[in-house]
Amino acid sequence: MMKYTIVDKETCIGCGACSDVAPEIFSQDAKGNSHTLLDNNEGTAQVPEELYDDLYDAYEGCPSESIKIADDSFAGNPNKFE
Ligand code: SF4
Repeated sequence: MMKYTIVDKETCIGCGACSDVAPEIFSQDAKGNSHTLLDNNEGTAQVPEELYDDLYDAYEGCPSESIKIADDSFAGNPNKFE
């Protein structure tokens, strides 16, 4: 099963927890909000399987539930942040 991820920048509080546990997937911009490194927060790049543990650690540790994970690309998904 493929995995895709994206960050809801509207709800991200910039705590940095995700980039601490998954630095190959997430980083923070100048405003402190997080984004995915894989595809500049488009949610269109498959997360490499070897990073799944880091991905789920970040997902479970996000205090604002801003990290979204799906089995399909987020491209064109109008509900991607629900
Ligand atoms: S853990 Fe969540 S709230 Fe914290 S920086 Fe990452 S996406 Fe934002």
